[in-house]
Amino acid sequence: MLFTRTYPLRLVIILPFSFLFFIGAAAFSVISYQNSQTLARSMGQNFARELSQRIEQYVSHLTKVMPEITDANATQVLNGNLSIAQPQQNTPWLLSQLRQSEQLSFVSMAFPDGRYIAAARPPNSPEHIEIASNIFNPEHHLIGYMLDSSDHLGQAIEQVKVSYDPRQRPFMQWALANPQLPCWGEIYRYVQSEVYGISLSKAVLDAQGNVIAVVAADIALNRLNQFMEKLNIGYGGLAFLLEQQSGKLIASSNIQRIPVKAADGNRFLLKQHPIPLLRNLSISQQDNLVDSHVIADGKHYLLEVKQIKLGEQQSWQLVVLLPVDQIAAPIMQQVKVTLFITLLLLLLLIFIGAQLARKIARPIENIAQIASNNELQKLTENPSKHHQYVEVSHLATSLATLAKAQLDSIHTLEQQVSKRTLELQKANQRLTTLSEQDALTGIANRRVFDRCLVSEWQQAIAENSPLSVIVCDIDHFKSFNDYYGHQAGDKALQAVAQHLQAHVRHSSDLLARYGGEEFALILPNTDAAQAAKIAENLRQSLFAAAIPRADLAPWVISLSLGYASTYPQESQKVEELVRRADKQLYVAKANGRNQVQPASTTIV
Ligand code: GH3
Ligand code: MG
Ligand code: MG
Repeated sequence: MLFTRTYPLRLVIILPFSFLFFIGAAAFSVISYQNSQTLARSMGQNFARELSQRIEQYVSHLTKVMPEITDANATQVLNGNLSIAQPQQNTPWLLSQLRQSEQLSFVSMAFPDGRYIAAARPPNSPEHIEIASNIFNPEHHLIGYMLDSSDHLGQAIEQVKVSYDPRQRPFMQWALANPQLPCWGEIYRYVQSEVYGISLSKAVLDAQGNVIAVVAADIALNRLNQFMEKLNIGYGGLAFLLEQQSGKLIASSNIQRIPVKAADGNRFLLKQHPIPLLRNLSISQQDNLVDSHVIADGKHYLLEVKQIKLGEQQSWQLVVLLPVDQIAAPIMQQVKVTLFITLLLLLLLIFIGAQLARKIARPIENIAQIASNNELQKLTENPSKHHQYVEVSHLATSLATLAKAQLDSIHTLEQQVSKRTLELQKANQRLTTLSEQDALTGIANRRVFDRCLVSEWQQAIAENSPLSVIVCDIDHFKSFNDYYGHQAGDKALQAVAQHLQAHVRHSSDLLARYGGEEFALILPNTDAAQAAKIAENLRQSLFAAAIPRADLAPWVISLSLGYASTYPQESQKVEELVRRADKQLYVAKANGRNQVQPASTTIV
């Protein structure tokens, strides 16, 4: 057999489509999840790209003024509009340039002979624009000057005097070493300040190719930090800038989460950054890295690295880190809602399915129930009345036909069985009668006498009532037989039996053929006196009936009777009662026949 197991109809109805829907829902969920991940990723990428573009634009906005100024000033020097001999004459020009761009901290000129003059905006007090120069004192101390009304050198500002030779400074050294190129310096820290800056210097060459001046522009980088902090990057994202060559941090979007510098003011190297996520980033070799993936503390980050080239020698790297799960969170929320709705739909479907299955299965179950209860009559009643389905209606009708046929055959069977039972009962009765009746006389036989005597004996013990037995014998019957023949003898036996039966008092008394021409009577609840009467009555009535005989006097059939009575006790034996009656019978015979011999007074 292919299908050995059986399943409830409801299950068979509901399970397949619930299973299919479940598979569909599961596939839908997996696809939704994957889509949301892809979407989150591409959102993250776009977001990171947009962010890095904004920062790059800001860096370019911040720095683009520097080559403009150095180029302009180089041209002005060559044109003779900026003086080499009298650099102090250039201060209004330098100051106007400084004022035009707030991010500028220095617009300076240095000369191969060691002179230096600059319009300066101190990073700690940007509103106090001043002139700094080492020209006007013999020790070449760098001194700050206030401005006069025409933006020329005013009064010197009292401050610590430090000797200053621009030729010892990197900006000039790089410019002299690479006179053909604009030179971006390394990021430096302003004297007595927390602020960092960067310079762009350019050598100015005369027609012979000699350096006649170095012009430079510096900007303070604290604005960069401010800008990045103001970006307020969402999704828990982080962005920071670092110098590609040195690997030192420049600015970050969140100073608390990504500090740029240590307590001593020195900028962190990315490789030694206190935050492991940064320390473990391997981005030094990568210029523009998009859609890389970093895992830190079990968190997935999207990593975007962008190179921002300032000049030939100097470039920065912009790094953006976005935690994937936070980008995906709102999408995942949507996915969860969708999954929840799907689950609700699944439950609803199962519920509807269960209702439907109930509706479909109920009529069949009802029929099955009735059939299993063997309520055939119910099956035949209105088979198609309550069934809306054609098939079930057909089934019910067919079952009703079957049930009707079954009922008919049961009815027939029952009739046959009851007929047979009746016949059997009759046969049984006949058999019982046969086995209990004496064949010749039709009265009870010896077996019935014995059985009846035992039960009456027990009952008499129980009720403490008297019990009597009469034994009677036809006198000289051998002679009768001899004279009239055996058949006539039989008839005489029958006549005596009928006579005795007719004279038995009530139904509780039992007359039996005891053997041959002997009869015996059991008389329950009968004491010796009553038994004597009955015996005498029987003897007299038979004698009076006068069944004639010609062989012997007194010329009619007569009986000799002996009886015995007792109140039966457990200690007594039932056979003893019969034996005593029998004994009395013999006494009656011996005493001349046709008489009743009274019971012996001897207690058995
Ligand atoms: P008693 O008065 O002493 O009883 O003498 P009896 O001749 O009646 O006694 P006995 O015992 O000598 O003989 C009994 C006879 O009864 C013998 C037998 O032929 C006859 N008898 C017994 N049963 C039947 C029977 O079924 N049919 C016929 N026809 N005769 C029977
Ligand atoms: Mg006899
Ligand atoms: Mg006899």
